[in-house]
Formats: sequence, structure tokens, C-alpha cells
Amino acid sequence: MKIRVLGCYGGQLLGFHLSSFLINDSILLDAGAPTVCLTLEEQRHIEHIFVSHTHLDHIQDIAFLSDNRSLKRLSGEIVNRCITIHSVQENLDILSKHFLNNLVWPDFTMIPNSEDPILKLQAIENYQASVIDGLSITPIPMNHPVPCTGFLLDQDGKQFIYSADTGVSDAIWDVANAQPNLCGLIIDCSFPNDYEFLANISGHMTPKQMAQDLKKLNKLGEVPIYLFHMKPETLAIMSKEIDKENIPHLRMLTQVDEFLL
Ligand SMILES: [Zn+2]
Ligand SMILES: [Zn+2]
Repeated sequence: MKIRVLGCYGGQLLGFHLSSFLINDSILLDAGAPTVCLTLEEQRHIEHIFVSHTHLDHIQDIAFLSDNRSLKRLSGEIVNRCITIHSVQENLDILSKHFLNNLVWPDFTMIPNSEDPILKLQAIENYQASVIDGLSITPIPMNHPVPCTGFLLDQDGKQFIYSADTGVSDAIWDVANAQPNLCGLIIDCSFPNDYEFLANISGHMTPKQMAQDLKKLNKLGEVPIYLFHMKPETLAIMSKEIDKENIPHLRMLTQVDEFLL
């Protein structure tokens, strides 16, 4: 399993990209950044996008990826012509009604036609795995103001978990503790400790809350843990607060990280 970080921040600033992870070169977990991080050739290989939730920082590049793909279609390109968007039904409904609605952005599920479109929508259900080329992807319900799922990845007997956006939760730790060979987790840590109120109302975690929640992980200290969704302008203070928690094998994710499991 190959995991390439395209963006890992909870805000977009010069040099800091929004959440997006490329798995095995053809699958995206969230679409905050692929068109600003991938060449057109790399974008052509994307066949699936698993969307955790419909906040703009996780879906914005569905728009520009579709647009780039449509130009290829018009030029007669037929390889990897369709991108399938996988998410829970509530999220697909939101995408159709409020994003790909021919008002905010063209409805690429009907372009160039409904039989063979640029985008297809595929509903997934919590705890039900989708298997793509030997990689199993299972949504896990998380704690966020809108329907949101983390994802368990499982390939060749190795598991990896992406929490997506979440406040303190239980389901993800139950799933993590049930894995025989968990090789890493990406966990929400968005705001400095002084912003706990904001973290609570927006469904995110501070370093202190993250450290407390991590105590539910049986293999804490053994499994690598990577934090994501930090607000870029608070990185210096968050770095100090995270260090203070003194948790082994834990660090902030960076945009150049790539994992080969
Ligand atoms: Zn969110
Ligand atoms: Zn987010």
C-alpha cells in the first residue's frame, strides 16, 4: 500500500495545502489538493475519490479535477475516463444538491452524458468495505457537525487508518484496536489548546484532547501516529503543545510524507 500526502492542513495558505491523500496512485482520500499537487498525467490515473465529508476543504478539487478530465475527454482520450466518488448517501445528496448543481459548478455526473459521465456517485455504508485492486477501504463514522467518515485501509495484511475531521470519538479506536497489524494512523489535531471551545463546536481536537483520546488506543506508543488538519498559522505553538504531550512515535504530518506499507 502506497500513501502519498498531497495536503494535510486545515487551512489553505501559500505553500500549505488542504486535506488529500493519494493511495496506490489511483485512489484519493478527500480532494482538497490534487490539482495543485499532481501533474496532469498523474491526475489522469485517478479513478476513485473517497470523500469523508462535504466541507469545502475536502471536496474543492472534485470541481477542478472534473474540469481537467473533461478536456481530455473532448480531445478523444478514453483511458480512465470516469472518476467514481464514494461517500455515504447523505454526502452524495449534499454534493448533488449544493455543489455539482449547475449553479456552483457544472454537474459532471451528466457531462458529456449520463450514460458515460466524467463523475459517477457511489454510495458506501459505515463498516462496509469496498475492495479496489486488492485494497479494502472501510468507512468509520466520526464525530463532526456534518456526516463524516474516517477510513480503514487494509492491503496485504497491513492496516492504516485516516480519521478525517473529528472531535473526540470512540468508533475509530474500537476499529483500530480490532486490527491485527495496524501500521499507522492519521488523526485530527486542528487547533491550539487555547481554542478548545472552537474545537468543540467545530468537531476537531486540540493537542490536549487528541492526547486524551489516544489513550483509547491499546497499542499507543507502538503504532506511528501522524497528526493532520493543523491550522497552518498556528503550527509553531501547536508543535510545542504536541511535544509537551510526549507521546512516542507521534508527529505532525507533512506534505512530503509518503508511506510504503
Ligand atoms: Zn470538516
Ligand atoms: Zn477539514
